[in-house]
Amino acid sequence: MQKGETIEGELLEIIRGLKAYMTYQAEIGVKGFERSNSKSADSEVNLLDKDRLTLETIIERMGECTRCDLHKGRRRIVFGAGPENAEIMFVGEAPGAEEDRQGVPFVGRAGQLLTKIVTAMKYSRQEVYITNVNKCRPPKNRDPRPAEVAACEPFLMQQIQVIKPKVIIALGRWAAQTLLKTNTAIGGLRGKFHDYHGIPLMPTYHPAAILRNPNLRRPVWDDMQKVMKLLGKEP
Ligand code: SF4
Repeated sequence: MQKGETIEGELLEIIRGLKAYMTYQAEIGVKGFERSNSKSADSEVNLLDKDRLTLETIIERMGECTRCDLHKGRRRIVFGAGPENAEIMFVGEAPGAEEDRQGVPFVGRAGQLLTKIVTAMKYSRQEVYITNVNKCRPPKNRDPRPAEVAACEPFLMQQIQVIKPKVIIALGRWAAQTLLKTNTAIGGLRGKFHDYHGIPLMPTYHPAAILRNPNLRRPVWDDMQKVMKLLGKEP
C-alpha cells in the first residue's frame, strides 16, 4: 500500500468502480447476471447484444468516458487501432505519455519495437489489432487500480467479442494477470497458451521490458513463434 492510502480508501475506490461498472452494464442493456460464480464472466459477454455490437458502437457507448478516475488526467481516450477482422489482438496495460498525446496505442519506443515484432511475425501493423486493458493514461504511468480496471475491462471484452481474434497476445504482467485473473508472475505465465473465453491467449513480456532488458528478446520471440505456428505461419 502506498503512503497515504488506507484500506477504507481502497474499499471506497473498489465500490466506486463497481458502481461505475454496474451503471455501464445497465446503459448497454444488460438486465441481469447468472447466479453461478463460475459462469459469471461468460454470461456477462453473452448478455451483450452481439448483433448490434461494432467497434464504432463501443466507441459511441464509451463517449467522453468518466467511469473511473483516470479520465481526470487524460488528454485522449486511446481506444485501440487495427481492423475489425484482425487475426491477432495485442493487449497492453494502459497508454503512456505519447499514446495519450496522439490517441493511438503503442506509438512510443515500445510501440516501435512492437511494430518490429509484428513485422517479424510476417504481419503488418495494419493487419493486427492493438489495444490496452485501460484506455486512459494513469498519472505518472502508475499501475491502474482494481476499480479502474473493473470500470474499463467491459470495453476490452466487447472489443474482443467484435474482433473475435484467433489469438490474443497479452503484453506484460498487468495485461496477462488482468485477463487471466491470476497473480502468477509473467515469467510463470508466458511460453504457453491459456484460454480466454475460448480464445487462445499467449502472455509475453511487454516491449518496454525488452527495452530495459534485451535478454528478454529471446523468450518473446519464442512465444511469438508459437503464435505463428498456431496461425499456420512458418517462422
Ligand atoms: Fe473510462 Fe476506461 Fe478511461 Fe476509465 S480508463 S475513464 S473506464 S475509458
